[in-house]
Amino acid sequence: MTSRRLADRKIVVASHNAGKVREIWELLRPFGVETVSAAELELPEPEETETTYEGNARLKAHAAARASGLPALADDSGLAVEALGGDPGIYAARWAETPQGRDFGHAMRKVWDKLEDAGAPEPRKAAFMCALSLAWPDGHDETFLGICPGRIVWPPRGDMGFGYDPIFVPKGHEITFGEIEPERKHAMSHRADAFRQLVIACFGDKT
Ligand code: IMP
Repeated sequence: MTSRRLADRKIVVASHNAGKVREIWELLRPFGVETVSAAELELPEPEETETTYEGNARLKAHAAARASGLPALADDSGLAVEALGGDPGIYAARWAETPQGRDFGHAMRKVWDKLEDAGAPEPRKAAFMCALSLAWPDGHDETFLGICPGRIVWPPRGDMGFGYDPIFVPKGHEITFGEIEPERKHAMSHRADAFRQLVIACFGDKT
């Protein structure tokens, strides 16, 4: 089945996270697509009630497309650790919650402690995952899942990234995402993988 192409030149980025909005704006700029964020339009943020990356990305994209009358792009991401049965998965941000706010040092320690408790063999395989969903106001969507395989290491290394970057070494490398220059990370990341698929399907073949 062929994918629906984006005919409109303006879309909503269905995220209230300024960093994500900026990254998506930069990715879309070469395609002459103008973006407006859900925050700028004061759209409400739906609760992420689905149990998959694709489900949550779809839910956010459809909510923004319905509310704005424009095509909307949303993402949902997380970290799947093989020996933990795919955890923390879509709950990656939730594992960082503490009474004092989000703490990714705490979340990374939790991943490592659980791997130690499980006696997980090396390499401790994991993958960053990212679903991107482009939804139209008529209810259609095109949704893609991007993957970046690698392994979990300890102790955390590097301060260039965010979230779980300091304990994730991408496949074929020896340094963590926290130690890799952001431009290099962006070229090989789960978000880049999903975005490449979206571009081929909905924007033509310019990559
Ligand atoms: P959400 O997509 O906003 O639900 O958040 C996903 C969570 O997954 C983030 O808060 C991070 O903890 C984690 N995550 C997703 N992508 C990355 C990444 O590229 N590096 C590090 N952590 C990430």
